[in-house]
Amino acid sequence: MTLARYACDPARSRGRRYAVSAAPTRDDFQRDRDRIVHSTAFRRLVYKTQVFLNHEGDLFRTRLTHSIEVAQLARSIARALQLNEDLTEAIALAHDLGHTPFGHAGQDALNDCMAAHGGFEHNLQSLRVVDQLEHRYPDHDGLNLTFETREGILKHCSAANARLLDAREPGGVARRFIDGTQPGLEAQLANLADEIAYNAHDIDDGVRSGLLTLQQVATVPLFARFVAQTRRDHPGLTDRRVLYESIRRMLSAQVYDVIDTTSGALAAAAPQDADTARRSGPLVAFSAGMRAQSAELKRFLFANLYRHPQVMDTTSQARQVVCELFAVYCQRPHELRPSFAERPDRERAVADYIAGMTDRFALREHERLTGQRLLT
Ligand code: MG
Repeated sequence: MTLARYACDPARSRGRRYAVSAAPTRDDFQRDRDRIVHSTAFRRLVYKTQVFLNHEGDLFRTRLTHSIEVAQLARSIARALQLNEDLTEAIALAHDLGHTPFGHAGQDALNDCMAAHGGFEHNLQSLRVVDQLEHRYPDHDGLNLTFETREGILKHCSAANARLLDAREPGGVARRFIDGTQPGLEAQLANLADEIAYNAHDIDDGVRSGLLTLQQVATVPLFARFVAQTRRDHPGLTDRRVLYESIRRMLSAQVYDVIDTTSGALAAAAPQDADTARRSGPLVAFSAGMRAQSAELKRFLFANLYRHPQVMDTTSQARQVVCELFAVYCQRPHELRPSFAERPDRERAVADYIAGMTDRFALREHERLTGQRLLT
């Protein structure tokens, strides 16, 4: 597979924080991907909520299946654009490693608990996981990933945290939030693939859960088009198959839209290498029309699924679990695992410990420490 000149080339990587000898059969980005797949945080994604709580049904997405879907979409677009598939895959598989239990509810709750102690941002936490919190190597903490993978993992970062990070790692992965430049094209792609994936699978999970109806989602213009096409091409099809076929068509349309739009942007900007691409503004993108339609679908899902009374009910209990765990551990640090209890930065250690939990472990710990059973 030939790489475009603006793709990230493992032979020109900015490298790892701790030097390692070359592997005989794998390049640096392939190695990053393998390190991520073998990490503890990656395995825990299977028991973490995407939208639906892990125990609500066996057929809903979890953070693990979401991450695999993002990787699949990102890789197939990377291949078409001659970007680095392995780097794209590594970033996609790692992008949600820092997510707390209970999805956004857990993250918002932890951010509130940490308000006086630097807050909590899940992208920054994903970077903390791969840089510090995985303890698997004899001579350093973290997975010691390449700059390019780490840059992709730090998708967003507040200005205040970017300055803090940049002070610790001058000119490193946080620099672009200060300079206003972009990450490599593979990182831009993994980010967009995330949006394509969750818009599609949240329609699927939303309808199959009964919280949304097909008729309701078919009022959203982006999706309506494919439902109408499907019904026209296959009269008398069951709603279930209409749902799947419409999602499949919507995914294809979005993937080809990104490929066409990005190919055009790359041809116009003609970046000579990956660094020039980073300075050329966002290049991996939807067309203006698709961007607007995708935003509209996102707003629909926000209002009708993420804010559905049934989801909101679990949200408030999830908040309670996270906030009460935080308070108990801060008061009784001996309840933490020893490696966390020993740390001098108490609140951050508690946040790291809670963020690493699966939904079910958090519920068990909450019951053990407070005697209450929530979300069962
Ligand atoms: Mg995601």
